[in-house]
Amino acid sequence: MSRSEPLIGAHVSARGGIDRAVDNAMAIGAEVFQTHPTPAQTWAPLRLDSIRLAAYREKYAAAGLHGHYLHAVYLINLASPKASLLRQSIGSLVHYMQLADQLEAVGVVFHPGSHLGAGFASMRAQIGAALREVVERSTSKALLLVENSAGSGGCVGCSLEEVAGIVEAASSEQVRVCFDTQHAFASGYDLRDAAGIARTLGDFERLIGFDRLALVHANDSRRELGSNVDRHANIGDGEIGVDGFRLLLADERLRALPWLLEVPGAENAGPDAGSINALRECAGRELVAVHATAL
Ligand SMILES: [Zn+2]
Ligand SMILES: [Zn+2]
Repeated sequence: MSRSEPLIGAHVSARGGIDRAVDNAMAIGAEVFQTHPTPAQTWAPLRLDSIRLAAYREKYAAAGLHGHYLHAVYLINLASPKASLLRQSIGSLVHYMQLADQLEAVGVVFHPGSHLGAGFASMRAQIGAALREVVERSTSKALLLVENSAGSGGCVGCSLEEVAGIVEAASSEQVRVCFDTQHAFASGYDLRDAAGIARTLGDFERLIGFDRLALVHANDSRRELGSNVDRHANIGDGEIGVDGFRLLLADERLRALPWLLEVPGAENAGPDAGSINALRECAGRELVAVHATAL
């Protein structure tokens, strides 16, 4: 594998213990992986006991994987006008950054949230200050990855302009961007053909810069361009289609990045070996052997 080949992986389950996520990533042929270390809809922190942590570290070191990314809980809202929710969101991200250190994870992906009608401009400084506080309080070296959103009422970070505004307001080397293809498409960025991709990536370069991009979430879209609806489809089964992913993966600015699938898979149980192979095929890479038994 030459160094400019994309690393291809997926979101995997951490049910039964964080070390199981390593097994799950290996079972589907992932090179990089992402987990929700805690249930995505609750604030409860993860208390890692030393035995579990040792099991994880041993498996992770032996697996030869190229990076673990944590996905923060969906409750986080750094744009909330409510002080209590803002404080809880910052605390949760600090916890995730510390977990990232313990788990030797590369970064923490989070959704910036919703301004609930207040408007992005009035919340921009608050989001920036919150991110700086997270970086400073956690003392972690992990990246804090702002994910672009799909859209819908009061959402923050649907446009690349807003993502750029967040990164600028944070003004920290650790704050980078995760680009989700489905969310971008839902927000009106066409990724189906060369012209649409050139326009979208041109905007990205001009507004944010590719030195700020650390991760791609590779998801096809169940819904049409500009739907503002967050519905992921398997690669090639959605509106973006195989041609779109081939073109995206051929672009030098994206090719060297890690690509993580968050797709339903064949059984609606999350990304599987077939999901990995569909994206590897788009990248022009050889396919991984499909394991018959799921863990
Ligand atoms: Zn995503
Ligand atoms: Zn999504």
